Amino acid sequence: MAAPIEGLRKVLELERKKRYSDNAVIGGLDRYLLNFAQETGIPPSHRFVEVLKALPPGGYRALHVVQRERVVEELLKAASNGLPSRPPATSDEPAKARAVAESSLVPGTLESPLSVLKVVPRPSQARLAKLGVNTVRDLLYYFPRDYEDYLGIRPVDGVEVDRIQTVVGDVFSVGRRTAGPRRVTEAVVSGPTGSLRVVWWNAPWIASRLRQGARIALTGRVSAFKGRPQMDQPEFADPDDETVKKAGLRAVYGSTEGLRQRDIRAAVLRALDGFQGRVPETLPDSIMKEHQLPRIHEALRAIHLPKSGEEADRARRRFAFEELLAIEVGVVRRRQEWQADAGAPVIELSRDVREGFVASLPFDLTTAQRRAISQVLDDVRSEVPMNRLLEGDVGSGKTVVATAALLAAVVSGFQGALMAPTEILAEQHFRTLIRLLDPTFDPDGEEEALFRETGSGFLVLRPGFMERPVKVALLKGSLKTAEKSAAQEAISNGEVDIVAGTHALLQEGVGFERLGLAVVDEQHRFGVGQRAALREKGGSPHMLVMTATPIPRTLQLTVFGDLDITVLDEMPPGRPVVKTWRVTPPQRAQSYEFLRKKAREGRQAYVICPLVEESEAVAAKAAVQEYERLSREVFPNLRLGLLHGRMAPSEKEATMRSFRDGELDVLVSTAVVEVGVDVPNATVILIEGADRFGLAQLHQFRGRVRRSSEQAYCFLLSDSTSEEALERLLIMETVSDGFELAEQDLRLRGPGEYFGTRQSGLPELRVAKLTDVDLIDKARTEATRILEADGQLERPEHAALRAEVARKWDGVTGEVS
Ligand code: ADP
Ligand code: MG
Repeated sequence: MAAPIEGLRKVLELERKKRYSDNAVIGGLDRYLLNFAQETGIPPSHRFVEVLKALPPGGYRALHVVQRERVVEELLKAASNGLPSRPPATSDEPAKARAVAESSLVPGTLESPLSVLKVVPRPSQARLAKLGVNTVRDLLYYFPRDYEDYLGIRPVDGVEVDRIQTVVGDVFSVGRRTAGPRRVTEAVVSGPTGSLRVVWWNAPWIASRLRQGARIALTGRVSAFKGRPQMDQPEFADPDDETVKKAGLRAVYGSTEGLRQRDIRAAVLRALDGFQGRVPETLPDSIMKEHQLPRIHEALRAIHLPKSGEEADRARRRFAFEELLAIEVGVVRRRQEWQADAGAPVIELSRDVREGFVASLPFDLTTAQRRAISQVLDDVRSEVPMNRLLEGDVGSGKTVVATAALLAAVVSGFQGALMAPTEILAEQHFRTLIRLLDPTFDPDGEEEALFRETGSGFLVLRPGFMERPVKVALLKGSLKTAEKSAAQEAISNGEVDIVAGTHALLQEGVGFERLGLAVVDEQHRFGVGQRAALREKGGSPHMLVMTATPIPRTLQLTVFGDLDITVLDEMPPGRPVVKTWRVTPPQRAQSYEFLRKKAREGRQAYVICPLVEESEAVAAKAAVQEYERLSREVFPNLRLGLLHGRMAPSEKEATMRSFRDGELDVLVSTAVVEVGVDVPNATVILIEGADRFGLAQLHQFRGRVRRSSEQAYCFLLSDSTSEEALERLLIMETVSDGFELAEQDLRLRGPGEYFGTRQSGLPELRVAKLTDVDLIDKARTEATRILEADGQLERPEHAALRAEVARKWDGVTGEVS
């Protein structure tokens, strides 16, 4: 046993020389020492093993350097007189020593499977895996969904309704019955002075576990049932169980079938004891100090086992901040990378052409439009690719701004792309381009000709204000193969100047010869990831993203954090606010009458069918029925048209065209045609099942009729009686500002609905909320500061943060939806 002790001393001395950095042996000093003790069989009573046993839950690594120094010196001293060698083989001392030492130091790493914890049985491991918890790290970061404020033990007849508490009593009776589809287990538990009814749903096995006359402890929430207290779905345990007696906060975890809270709690506790100290700190000291955030170890324990609500909140805040910081570092870095790229084409619009274009418009630009055009043209003049969001309410005139930029690209010898989420919108953009660039263009009377071109795949426009022609193409999924390949060919050989199309332009491998500018309309379905994808397509084109859905500040800093923002905060003059009313079932007839009256005056109207979630097919069917009902029973004397997503594109076109040309009075439509359609003579919109739509979407619909100086009207039909639905529709009645509506929408529905993080190309958020402006702001500031000082996160104090950023952003791409 002489040789190993030499080795031990060398290791300890090396650790001393390395200033107690835990770098002397691979895998950590304590693991080495533990193995050493086991292999050589040092008895547990020896000072050497005692020092090891006294290490905190996180082991040697969790200690402060000063403490580490003391441990190393102690160990050296303990070993200095030689260590006792293994006693006779019959003794079980080494096994005991191992057991003792292991209880505080579970072998394995944070990435080890849960089996290393020993306390998680296989079936529970499988169930935890369903929740995405596979490793020790996953488990430590599997934060409680909520906390029970557990009041301690009460007499069975002394319970408080609506709170979680424990009672101890005797099982008086147990029974099972079925209530509709559910199987109910019912018990009565009695104490000296009264009894309590207890109910479990769909857990018939419980009945066999409760012996009549047995004493049990029940923990659960108490509700009032027919005026009497009843405990619902309690957990039960032996009354002598230690944990039963402790009052205080208890974590409640999201669970899955067959996985009990107590299984999760036991696993978490074990993980905390064994690994808490091994989780590296991800936040730099200065940040924790500045924002008063607890350190990682403290926070992990506090979030799972809080002593008070405040302690839990503080821990939660720390993890939220950590999460947001990782996100902001990713977002800010993307922005910086974008700006470091000097490979964008220099695009310039000569003064002559610019003025010629503006003068040729059938209206005067608003001040906001002028400002936006200047900003955009400034951006594209630079070799740093533009990455700008143009935000403006429905009807504020974003398309003109985009057109000016596209024109600049063309004049400078580049191609431009204009993308929309739907084909109808792409077609409308195409038509708008034609109207704005060459009002004299005549597609031989037959509008269809626009979309059924001669085979060349594009149209040739001759703007009056410039020398050269502009070739525009429309690329959409429903084109015939030959037409499509003709258009694609013309795009990739550089013949075509501007392409209008759906977002599918990104997916279908369309190659541009020299894409200079990409405009993406209605971006709220278009996240960070998609923008990155587009950019990779065409080298480094300039990018203009447009939205009618105002972006609250929190989202500006996150989902859109890599963008510069321009707001069109001014409507073209003479557009009165749309008068909006909520209509209850008894008032339905009146709103129909109003619509008839407007039709007699020569106006047109939209009827939007309720949102159908099941499928496009179901939505279409519902729309057909509504169309037939309205045609036959409600508006037999008016001309009605129908539009839904299952119609052939040519049919949709035909219907849209007749509506636009005034051949239809009423357009019945599903929500598919939510955005963009531009028919100024339509001044009434009637939205069925209005409560099912989000505020932003209702506002979009309403924007359809705010297209002229005529007073327009919006009727929100709803038979819902829910408070929340009523509140939302009242907001629509009183608020006409899209930005405010967006804020309200975010408040009412949460960002998950407003912008799903999955769609947005942001990493999943576990703790942080996209509504927490304050914390997001702080994270943004810190991220910027950190990246300014250490752009690649190479400094040792940023190593853990770098790993966290990688973990968060890894695999986050965002799909085109
Ligand atoms: P959105 O911002 O909703 O995309 P559009 O660009 O489609 O709005 O413009 C809405 C309508 O307003 C179009 O018919 C457009 O021609 C018209 N328009 C745009 N700018 C002005 C303006 N400055 N004055 C009058 N009408 C305008
Ligand atoms: Mg638009």
